[in-house]
Amino acid sequence: MEIFDMREFDGHEQVVFGHDPATGLRAIIAIHSTVLGPAAGGCRLWPYATTAEAVADALRLSRGMSYKNAMAGLDFGGGKAVIVGEPRRKTPELFEAFGRLVEGLGGRYVTAEDVGTTTADMANVSRSTHYVSGLGRAPGEAGGDPGPKTALGVYLGIRAAAKFALGRADLEGVTVAVQGVGGVGYHLCAHLADEGAQLQVADVRPAALQRVCDEFGARAVAVEEVLEASVDVLAPCALGAVLNAQSIPRLRAKIVAGAANNQLAQGQDGAALAQAGILYAPDYVINAGGIISVAREYRGGSTEAQVIADIHGIPARLTEIFERARRESRTTNAVADGMARERLAGTRARLVA
Ligand code: NAD
Repeated sequence: MEIFDMREFDGHEQVVFGHDPATGLRAIIAIHSTVLGPAAGGCRLWPYATTAEAVADALRLSRGMSYKNAMAGLDFGGGKAVIVGEPRRKTPELFEAFGRLVEGLGGRYVTAEDVGTTTADMANVSRSTHYVSGLGRAPGEAGGDPGPKTALGVYLGIRAAAKFALGRADLEGVTVAVQGVGGVGYHLCAHLADEGAQLQVADVRPAALQRVCDEFGARAVAVEEVLEASVDVLAPCALGAVLNAQSIPRLRAKIVAGAANNQLAQGQDGAALAQAGILYAPDYVINAGGIISVAREYRGGSTEAQVIADIHGIPARLTEIFERARRESRTTNAVADGMARERLAGTRARLVA
């Protein structure tokens, strides 16, 4: 595998492979940048078919974390871990072994939850390293499961997008299709339903789907059809790369704004969305609520109220991106990438000077 030549390689500072025969741990930690601070980003547990696929995901996700943390104004760089494995077979010992791998990096990388990992898993990681966040917390303290915080940011971001593209002051009667109603999607549906939005939802897990239908009066749609739903807003909250050359011509939403990381299969898909007249909320800007919480928890001494106040900064950042994109005839993802790179370059220049 020629890592330096991979399409996903973007000048990453460090890529670490970890193996523990006793627990079966096979993990990759990618540190994209520590220019702004320790590289922070979650740990994904996924049954990757090949090592190359796992490395590509770690590289892509860690770069996304550099941009996400830069845009959220956090003093953290970008990193991500992936564990190759079957979520149903995870053990406390596996996460303890992963914690030892994180500890070995001496604080250059700080881990937390991602797809396939939970607060309980991070508690096991914390048995062997301090460089972990997203742990349990006392009421009123910053931290805990980042999923609900991500959902709050996405909800506020959808409001900002609806105001910008539809001239809507609130979401009463606005139709939203949510793809994936797991840790983030469920809480997003709660916020949207509270404000009177009409929900269409899809998930591969029937029980998760039933729950949001029962609790929020959402209408279930087939997994194969949710991307094409005739709605105002499409909120991808499951997997990455759902916006691609095949799906974009079939979209009927006016806005795409959701939690999933790496929604665009390729950068040029942002242009296809713009040409189709669809407003795209860059994923790493709208879904920063979780890392904002993780960051405050890790530094210590913050309250939940401070986390929530920070998350309320997300809609203004999105509106600035939407306005710049319109003014400069550029895509929203290109504007966001440019702003993130400016902050990284500015800090790098100050460090060198
Ligand atoms: P999750 O695993 O709890 O939920 C994902 C849901 O999507 C599950 O219910 C799953 O069954 C469903 N799903 C999987 N494939 C699907 C498909 N093809 N169609 C419809 N549903 C499908 O994960 P999560 O924590 O809710 O995260 C969701 C997305 O948001 C991920 O892409 C994640 O990387 C991203 N994200 C999460 C956070 C966070 O704080 N948890 C932060 C930033 C970004």
